[in-house]
Amino acid sequence: MINITEKNKCTGCHACAAVCPKSCIDMRRDSEGFLYPVVNTDECINCNKCERVCPILTGRTENTDSQQLGYAAYSKDEEMRLKSSSGGIFSEIAEVIIDRGGVVFGAAMAEDQRSVHHIAVDDKEGLEILRGSKYLQSTVGDTYKQAKEYLENGRYVLFTGTPCQIGGLYAYLGKDHDRLYTQDLICHGAPSPLVWEKYVEYREKKASDGSSPKVMTRRTFFRVKPWKRFSVRFEFSNLTEYLADLRSDPFMRGFLSDIYLRPSCYDCKYKTVHRQADITLADFWGIQNVYPDMDDDNGISFVWVHSDKGRELFDEIRGHLVTRECDTGIVTSKYNPAAVRSSSLPGKRKLFFDNMDKTDVADNIRICTAVPFIRRLYRKLRSVAGKCYRAVFKR
Ligand SMILES: Cc1cc2nc3c(=O)[nH]c(=O)nc-3n(C[C@H](O)[C@H](O)[C@H](O)COP(=O)(O)OP(=O)(O)OC[C@H]3O[C@@H](n4cnc5c(N)ncnc54)[C@H](O)[C@@H]3O)c2cc1C
Ligand code: SF4
Ligand code: SF4
Ligand code: SF4
Repeated sequence: MINITEKNKCTGCHACAAVCPKSCIDMRRDSEGFLYPVVNTDECINCNKCERVCPILTGRTENTDSQQLGYAAYSKDEEMRLKSSSGGIFSEIAEVIIDRGGVVFGAAMAEDQRSVHHIAVDDKEGLEILRGSKYLQSTVGDTYKQAKEYLENGRYVLFTGTPCQIGGLYAYLGKDHDRLYTQDLICHGAPSPLVWEKYVEYREKKASDGSSPKVMTRRTFFRVKPWKRFSVRFEFSNLTEYLADLRSDPFMRGFLSDIYLRPSCYDCKYKTVHRQADITLADFWGIQNVYPDMDDDNGISFVWVHSDKGRELFDEIRGHLVTRECDTGIVTSKYNPAAVRSSSLPGKRKLFFDNMDKTDVADNIRICTAVPFIRRLYRKLRSVAGKCYRAVFKR
């Protein structure tokens, strides 16, 4: 039976819980806020299906037959594009599946804005809550089982999520299905849902400013455009708003400083060009160098196609997009290395979680992401030296 002894070897994909014939695996939250499988040994019949399905234990995290076609692209539907995190490609693909009478699975923020769960949607209006990146780990729940049922009933299914969630789905299904399409992401890592929960409470307290009744968060957005600012917006029940970009928002700073990612994200087995998904979507970082004329800061996607099914979907949406072919090798090695390289484990991660219950969440992030004076000075000197060198030798 599954027994997690090293947390970095479990992505929380839910495949083991979904496959268990006795339903005796609980996905339980640890003190950092991440879910791990826990077996009820009284009910376990030692069939070992949970171990045999686990993509990490079996090493099934790649598809070495994958194709490598790449495009810079964005949707011509400007409204849809502005509501999306990069170029709005997810929505275009999802609409194709809905038009075929199919079902789309993806990550949705809960109504109280405190957690993210995978859900199924089968109409275009419903796609609204799947749209946009939510930078915390989404709970897969029993969506693998739901997807299997839809497929067995002859429906088209598009399953979207992080590479480990797509890996978990294929492991659970055990085979491909003609009507199954999958889309993953270039994934920086999944932040702790508990840290996000604390951050929402922190923002609500700030928005309340001592008044009553308590202010609640109505909606949250992680990537308000302009695209390169990584701005976060909260809308509150007292009709006030909070808007801050990467430089000033503590949660985004902590996320991109890798302080509270899931342990498996620092040694991610899905960092590869040999993707299992039919299509990978990402931000097209470096677009200002590759196709400067496309870079209007409203969001450009890198669309990375890996299979015939992926190509078929991309061809179907192509008329709705502005698109150009690109070299996938340059994008994944130079401009978006998160495709193939895990985030580094920061020295202060332990301190952050040790202090979580003692220190205000925003202060804790500030303390753990502060760059020491000596390093700031070194960076400044290096940048000045670089400018002098370019001025003298490259005139
Ligand atoms: C946790 C996370 C880390 C990411 N890291 C990177 C990165 O390092 N580099 C990069 O280039 N791009 C990264 N992305 C992807 C990027 O932010 C865009 O989501 C992607 O480019 C698709 O944009 P879009 O405009 O086509 O669609 P959008 O509408 O913006 O994206 C919606 C899609 O994202 C999925 N999604 C949203 N939140 C989650 C979640 N919490 N878990 C699983 N799936 C989710 C939805 O199911 C849907 O498939 C990351 C996304 C997430 C969620
Ligand atoms: S060994 Fe079988 S019954 Fe026991 S937890 Fe694993 S899948 Fe369930
Ligand atoms: S990686 Fe997935 S299948 Fe493996 S133990 Fe963790 S949750 Fe279960
Ligand atoms: S970095 Fe890897 S383990 Fe972490 S969420 Fe992304 S795909 Fe999963």
